Amino acid sequence: MSLQFQENISLKPYNSFGFDVSARYFALLDSIEQLADLREFMQHQAIPVLLIGGGSNLVLTADLDLLVVVNRIRGLHISDNPDGTVSVTAGGGEDWHQFVRWTLEQGAYGLENLSLIPGTVGAAPIQNIGAYGVEIKDRMLSLEAFDLETGEQVVFTSADCQFDYRDSIFKSRFPGRYLIIAVTFTLSREFTPVLHYGGISGQLADRGITSPEPLQFSDLICEVRNSKLPQPEQLGNAGSFFKNPVIPEDQAQQLKQVFPGMVVFADKPGYSKLAAGWLIDQLGWKGRTQGDAGVYEKQALVLVNHGNATGTDIVELAGAIQADVYKQYGVMLEIEPRCYP
Ligand code: FAD
Ligand code: NAP
Repeated sequence: MSLQFQENISLKPYNSFGFDVSARYFALLDSIEQLADLREFMQHQAIPVLLIGGGSNLVLTADLDLLVVVNRIRGLHISDNPDGTVSVTAGGGEDWHQFVRWTLEQGAYGLENLSLIPGTVGAAPIQNIGAYGVEIKDRMLSLEAFDLETGEQVVFTSADCQFDYRDSIFKSRFPGRYLIIAVTFTLSREFTPVLHYGGISGQLADRGITSPEPLQFSDLICEVRNSKLPQPEQLGNAGSFFKNPVIPEDQAQQLKQVFPGMVVFADKPGYSKLAAGWLIDQLGWKGRTQGDAGVYEKQALVLVNHGNATGTDIVELAGAIQADVYKQYGVMLEIEPRCYP
C-alpha cells in the first residue's frame, strides 16, 4: 500500500507530554517499500521531515510546518552465531520494551537493564539510551538507515554511530538526516545481569533473591522504575529532562568541598558526573509548578505536564531551573529531549 499523507493532524496522541500541536503534513510509515513515496513527497513539496517513534523524548513547542512521519516498520529476527553469541534484529518501529521482553523470552540476554524505557527501537540509537549501567552502545552491532537527503539505504556500525553519554552522530552531527529502519544487537545465551548500578543489587537482596531469572530481573527493573517515574499516560513527561553534567574532576572536587552532600560519580578519565536530580532537588524545585508545568514530586529530574501546559511552558520552567542551578553551582544543565520546531 502506498504511503498516505494527511494534513493538519494533531500530534497530541504522538508525544508523551501530550502537547496539542499540529503537523502540516502527517504520514504513518509501515514498510520499507513506502520510503520511495516518502522521498517523492519530500521532493515535490520541498518540505523537511520530522521522524517520530513513540514521541517519548520530544518537546513540541508550536505547530510544525513539516511533514511528520511516524515510524511503524516492524519485524523481529534472531539467529545464533558460531561463537555462541546471538544476533537479533528489530524493525525501527517495534516498541522498545516489548522488544526487550521478546529477547528474554528467546533466551537472548543483555538488554534486561533497559526494560520499560518508552519508545521505539529506531529511536534508541539517537541518544544511546541507557539505564542502570547499560547503554545500547554496549550491545548494538549495526543499524540500517535511509538517508533522507540522498534516498540511499546505508549501514552504520556501532563505531560509526559515535556513541557517547545520551548522544550519537544522529543527534550531534546529522540531526534528522537518517531514518533508522532496523537495528541489530549482539546478545548472549548466558545470563550475566549487571547489578552494580543504582541500588539494583540492594533491591534484589531486599526480596531475598540471590540469582534472579532473566524475566524476574526485568520485572524488578520495571517495578523500581514504576515506583520512581510517572507513567506518561497518567502524567505527561519525557523522562529525565536534563542530562547529568559531566565536568572536570577538579571542578567537581571543589564543588564537593563546598557542598559535601553532592552526588558525584567517576566518569571518563579526568571527568566526574554530577547527579542533576540532586542539584535541582537541593534548590527546592521538587514538586514545584509554574501553571500546569511542574517538577515531578518524586524525581526532580523529570518535568511534567499537569494538564494544559504547553511545550513553551515546560521550556520556560526548564530555563528557570537551569538559571538557578547555574547561579548556585556554576554548572549549566543541558536539556536531554529534542525540542521542535
Ligand atoms: P521520539 O521521542 O519519537 O524521538 C526522539 C528523537 O529520535 C527525535 O529526534 C526523533 O526525530 C528521532 N527518531 C525517532 N525515531 C527515529 C527513527 N526511526 N530514525 C531516526 N530518528 C528517529 N531514555 C533513556 O535513555 N533512558 C531511560 O531510562 C529513559 N527513561 C524514560 C522514562 C520515561 C517515563 C520517559 C517518558 C522517557 C524516558 N527516556 C529514557 C527517554 C525516551 O524513552 C528515549 O529517548 C527513547 O529512545 C525515545 O524513543 P521514541 O521512539 O519515543 O523517540
Ligand atoms: P538513580 O538510580 O536514583 O540514580 C541517580 C543518578 O545517579 C542517575 O542519574 C545515575 O546516572 C547515577 N548513578 C547511579 N548509580 C551510578 C553508578 N554506579 N555509577 C554512575 N552513575 C550512577 O536514578 P533514577 O532516576 O532512578 O534512574 C535509574 C536509571 O534509569 C538511570 O540509569 C537513569 O539514567 C535511567 N533513566 C533515564 C531516564 C531518561 O529519560 N534519560 C529516565 C528515567 C530513568 P545515569 O543517569 O548516568 O545512569
